Amino acid sequence: MALARVFGCARVVYNDALALRRHAFEAGLPRLSASQLQREVVTLAKLTVRRAFLAEVGVDPLIQAVRDLEGAYGNYFASLSGKRKGPKIAEPRFKSRKDNRQAVRFTRNGFRLRGNGTLYLAKIGEVRVRWSRILPSEPPSVTVVKDARGRYFASFVVETDPAADLGRFPLDPDRAYTETGIDLGLTHFAVLSDGKKIDAPGFLRRAERKLRRLQQDLARKQKGSNNRKKAVVEVAAAHAHVADSRRDFQHKLSTTIIRETQAVYVEDLSVAGLGRTRLAKSVHDAGWSGFVDMLEYKAARYGRYFARIDRFTPTSQVCSACGVKDGPKPLSVRQWTCAGCGARHDRDVNAARNVLAAGQADRVNACGDQVRPGLVPAPVCEAGTHRGDLSSAQCASAPAAPNGAVGIPALGDREDVKGSPSVHRGTLWSPPVSRR
Ligand SMILES: [Zn+2]
Repeated sequence: MALARVFGCARVVYNDALALRRHAFEAGLPRLSASQLQREVVTLAKLTVRRAFLAEVGVDPLIQAVRDLEGAYGNYFASLSGKRKGPKIAEPRFKSRKDNRQAVRFTRNGFRLRGNGTLYLAKIGEVRVRWSRILPSEPPSVTVVKDARGRYFASFVVETDPAADLGRFPLDPDRAYTETGIDLGLTHFAVLSDGKKIDAPGFLRRAERKLRRLQQDLARKQKGSNNRKKAVVEVAAAHAHVADSRRDFQHKLSTTIIRETQAVYVEDLSVAGLGRTRLAKSVHDAGWSGFVDMLEYKAARYGRYFARIDRFTPTSQVCSACGVKDGPKPLSVRQWTCAGCGARHDRDVNAARNVLAAGQADRVNACGDQVRPGLVPAPVCEAGTHRGDLSSAQCASAPAAPNGAVGIPALGDREDVKGSPSVHRGTLWSPPVSRR
């Protein structure tokens, strides 16, 4: 298929460019500029016998492959020098035909959206798209992704009007003072400070169980055997299914929470740290970090306040009513009575209330105002300038709204990105997974 060939060619160009850069580095030669690199691995390479096949596809995705490599190196060096925060980024590596996720990007020169709803890709032709939503404006680029199941997705980057978006997702005046603390736990996916307990839906838990079983089957298969190859395909399919279902569930939940409250506080679990303990398996399965990221970027997008609470705060040990520290409790203790005030607590709801109080206290301190936590709906940030519910969105520590690029999804919409600009994803085709 024509599209498959583009994926192959983009990968070859990426790998050639990577090999060239590494060779130059090892030989002590000066770094190749992006345009030199592009000339070597695209323009000149096409003229050689070994790389003549590159001429069969459009040049645009090949150029983007070189740019992607440059971007990957940029991130890598920024991470090395400490300019880039967060976990260390690995050095760019060679791409393989066997990678689970493959992607090619087309810019304005390489694609057109046709009036009949199809996507025209240069040197490939018209592609049918199952749109997940209507694009609010003409996208500058499209990324076509092939997942482990062999399904293709098109992601568009779209610039939209943030003011119009906020209008589509206003704060309910009745709930303008609502703030939510969230406890992410093992007995429930999430527990909210208002007492709501949210579990992952049954179909998702069943899919996760099936995935675990298939992974165990795979581990027992002999290396290099045909049965192993079949099992690999099945695991990849089950994995993609779980990932999709989980993302849908998390999108719906995070949108609902953000819609209903004006500030959200979550305990910073530092999943990377927990991942080394014996809870690791369930932590990764629960996919909390992805969920918390969604809350964070949706809060920024919709003008809500979001904060992570220090994970060393013992949220399950402190009484949320009187503040007495009751001491550590094993996970099996689901309910307890406070020795200080006699309040009866549900372990998880109490934790969520403590997250809420800690978040409110942090936020007030960050704004330089002393107010008792838990009682103040909206702290005053800059004395005398902004008051009332809207001022909280202007609090110095509130995440800034993304730069002019916001898209508001309908409840349960699929999205693929953290932060801006927003990406709208449409399914191209979904060929059935081969099951023998
Ligand atoms: Zn108490």
